[in-house]
Amino acid sequence: MGKKEVNIPRQTNILLIDEDVAWRKTLSVGLQDMGHRVTTATTGQEAVALFKQQPFNIVLVGIKLPDVSGREILEMTKELNPEVAVVMITDHANLKAAVNAVDEGAYAYVLKPEALYELKTLINNALREQELLIRNRKLVDSLQRSNSSLEEANQALEQASHAKSDFLAKMSHELRTPLNVIIGFAELMVDQVPGEVNEEQRQCLDDILTSGRHLLGLINEVLDISKVEAGKVELKLKDIVLSEVVESVTSAMTAVLSQRRQSLDVKLGEEFFSVQADEARLRQVFFNLLSNASKFTPDGGEIKIEARRKGNFCQVSVSDNGIGIKVEDLRQIFEPFYQADNSIDREDGERRGTGLGLSLVKEIVEMHGGRIWVESEYGKGSNFIFTLPLVVANKTLS
Ligand code: ADP
Repeated sequence: MGKKEVNIPRQTNILLIDEDVAWRKTLSVGLQDMGHRVTTATTGQEAVALFKQQPFNIVLVGIKLPDVSGREILEMTKELNPEVAVVMITDHANLKAAVNAVDEGAYAYVLKPEALYELKTLINNALREQELLIRNRKLVDSLQRSNSSLEEANQALEQASHAKSDFLAKMSHELRTPLNVIIGFAELMVDQVPGEVNEEQRQCLDDILTSGRHLLGLINEVLDISKVEAGKVELKLKDIVLSEVVESVTSAMTAVLSQRRQSLDVKLGEEFFSVQADEARLRQVFFNLLSNASKFTPDGGEIKIEARRKGNFCQVSVSDNGIGIKVEDLRQIFEPFYQADNSIDREDGERRGTGLGLSLVKEIVEMHGGRIWVESEYGKGSNFIFTLPLVVANKTLS
C-alpha cells in the first residue's frame, strides 16, 4: 500500500501586510501568479480588521509597520487563530527582530530581496503542516470523544452491575425466609410431629426436603456472591494460623470423606503459617474446594492439601486424582453458574451443585489480595491453587 498523500489546497488565502506599496504590489502579483489569493494591507489596524472578517491561512507581515510592530500582528493572529502560519518579511537591518519573532511563534522569516523565491516552497510546507495539524486535532478530538463515551458506558455498566447485585441480594434474602419455613415444616412432618405419615408421604417429604435444601444452598450462594459483588462484604481481617482453619474444615468433612473411602493428606510445610484473613471466609474457601475435590473424585480417591511459602505469600493447593476438567472448560470454571462438562448428575444427586462455589472462592481470595488458578488434566485430577498474603512477610516489609 502506498503512502497516503497529504492534500495541499491549491489556493491559499494570504494576507500581505507591508507599508512599502511598490514592493507589496510586486510580491502580491508574484504570489497570485503562483495561484494564491492575496489580500493586502498597509497598516496593522487595517490588517486586524481584515483578519476578523475573513479566514486567512498565511499571513505575510513586514517587521515594521507604521502603527504597530510586525510582532504585535503575530501575537494578535496567533490569538485569533493559532494554526495560521505567520511569515515575517524583513530587510537586513531588522533581521534580529525577525529571528526573535520566529522564536516567539512565527512560522519563518524571509528577506525582502529574495522573498518571492523563498515563499514558493515555504508556503507549500506551511500548508502541509497546517493540514497535518488540523488532522491531528480532529483525531485528538475524536479520540477524546470516544474516550468520554467509553467512560460513560463504563459508568453505566458499573451502575447496572451494582443494581443487579443489589437486586439479587435483596431477592435472595426475601426468598430465604419462606423457604426456611417450608423446610422447617417438612422436617416436622418427617419427624411425625403433626401426625403419622405413611411410606409414600414420607418419600414425598424427602423429595421436598432435598429440593428445598438444594434451593436454599443456591439462594445462600447467590446472596453471598451478590453481596461480595455489591461491595457489601467487609472482611474481618486478623492473623490466622492456617493449620487451625484447615483442621476445623477437614474435621467437618471427615464423615463425607470416610463414607466415600477417600484419603486426605495434609502437608502444610511450616506449621505456623500465619495469614491475614477473614476466618469465616477462609473456611468457606477451604470448604468449597475440599467439597469439590471430594464430589468430583470417585470413591477411594486421594485428596491433598498442601501449603508452602512463595515470597510474601502463602501458596495453598487443594488437589485430587478425580475426574479432572477438560481444557475447554478451564478458562470459564471460575465464572458464576458455570458447570463443566464433567458434572454429570450422580444418581444420589450429590454432584448437583450451583456452579457458584468457585466464583465465590475466587472473589474471596481476590478480596484478600491473593490469586487463584487451576491446573487439571481431564481424567487424571485437578489442582486448585491460591495465594494469601503472609503475616510474617508483611511485618518484615513494613
Ligand atoms: P458446583 O460444584 O456447585 O457445580 P463450582 O463453582 O464449585 O460449582 O464448580 C464449578 C464446576 O467446576 C463444577 O460443576 C465442576 O464441573 C468443576 N469442578 C470444580 N471443582 C472440580 C474438581 N475438583 N474436579 C473436577 N471438576 C471440578
